[in-house]
Amino acid sequence: MKLFNSLTRQKEELVPYEEGVVKMYSCGPTVYSYPHIGNMRAYLFMDMLRRVLKYNGYKIEGVMNLTDVGHLVSDADEGEDKMIVASKREHKSPWEIAEYYTNIFMAETKKLGIDMPEHICKATDVIPEIIVFVKTLLENGHAYETSKGIYYDIATFPAYGKLGGMNIADKLAGARIDIDDEKRHPADFALWIKAPKEHIMQWDSPWGKGYPGWHIECSTIGMKYLGDHIDIHTGGIEHKTIHHENEIAQDEGYAGHQVVKNWVHFEHLLVDGGKMGKSLGNVYTLDDLAKRGYSPEDYRYFFFTTHYAKQQNFTWEGMESAKNALKSLKAIAKEHKESNEKTKIKIKKVEKDFEDAINDDLNLPKALGIVWTMLRMPRDRQIYDLLMKFNSIFGFNFDGEIIPTEVQQLAKDRWEAKQQKNYAKADELRGKITELGFSIKDNPSGYEIIKN
Ligand code: AMP
Ligand code: ZN
Repeated sequence: MKLFNSLTRQKEELVPYEEGVVKMYSCGPTVYSYPHIGNMRAYLFMDMLRRVLKYNGYKIEGVMNLTDVGHLVSDADEGEDKMIVASKREHKSPWEIAEYYTNIFMAETKKLGIDMPEHICKATDVIPEIIVFVKTLLENGHAYETSKGIYYDIATFPAYGKLGGMNIADKLAGARIDIDDEKRHPADFALWIKAPKEHIMQWDSPWGKGYPGWHIECSTIGMKYLGDHIDIHTGGIEHKTIHHENEIAQDEGYAGHQVVKNWVHFEHLLVDGGKMGKSLGNVYTLDDLAKRGYSPEDYRYFFFTTHYAKQQNFTWEGMESAKNALKSLKAIAKEHKESNEKTKIKIKKVEKDFEDAINDDLNLPKALGIVWTMLRMPRDRQIYDLLMKFNSIFGFNFDGEIIPTEVQQLAKDRWEAKQQKNYAKADELRGKITELGFSIKDNPSGYEIIKN
């Protein structure tokens, strides 16, 4: 299985540190506002990667953080903490804000059928570990203290900038005049921030009361659960040049060696070819989609139509075609399911083409094309069975409504009555099933329950 590694700038064969197990870290949300469909692209991407890994037989140790403190308005440590901004906006404590938006985030991921990581960890749950991490960086000579906090000294990490392709000199040349003259380099970043009194979230530390920087949360949580050899780290493209550079500096400053092997970045969702923005009135949520008749599953289909490393353009026309495509995909799938024909299809070839596509840096648009070519073939039950295998990645719902156990039992009893040629009883049971809003369709291998 090949993935594009942002660090080496090439597609590489995935070779996990431990055979058969992939340790994967994904940058999670800052829980301070309602997640929009652009944010959800981040988790659909994570979901797709997890599903492809599982398809290939890997066991996954996945971790995601929930940022509930320390993410300042600018990713480069300027402005207020986003949690405090939301707290003022909504007249709630930052803790209430975090809880509220975490619940919403979890509900949105559930609607989309996201395969969630094995460990989900809040930044505020690892404050002691963060303090140990920062202390270690101070001891290792990678950090220094100022009146405002503890900063990472990027001059002590010559590889700084290797991910974004910018060296320290470039960074210095590009940096604005920093207002903080205590910092040794303008790109030095905060590991621990000494809290002003009005900062509600603060903890005791060897450096007085304060709160963690944003970047240190990810390094600490990643290493807490996965150790210092991590196979894959995922995140949005915008995090490549600051957040992830900083994570690498922290990780390697702490561990003394490379920690993350593959950095995988997804590109953003655009709306009508431009940025999604509140002021533009084009920030859509799953609820907005639902109001226009599009299900989370339709959005999943839409996601698969563009490669993750390309920008995806959201339009309502695009949603409409995704919805229609998914509808006909399901209808054709049903025809294959019900077919008794044994055609001479080259099923193994289709399977191999599909697997080559998903394993070639997650080329899902190509894989989807292969599915369509397959579906257009003469109707054959084998095609349906193979589609169900592929569906472990797509995660579409082919079963329609969930059939109540009562109906399932009645259907089973009816089938048995019919086998025993007790047609009166079979008809009576069929009547009961109809009353409950379902019907039965017999086929050569058994029967199917359909919601009316
Ligand atoms: P935030 O909660 O603001 O930290 O963002 C959560 C995730 O959403 C991050 O991983 C971002 O990379 C991602 N994100 C934000 N906007 C977009 C967008 N328009 N398209 C795709 N991902 C986005
Ligand atoms: Zn992160």
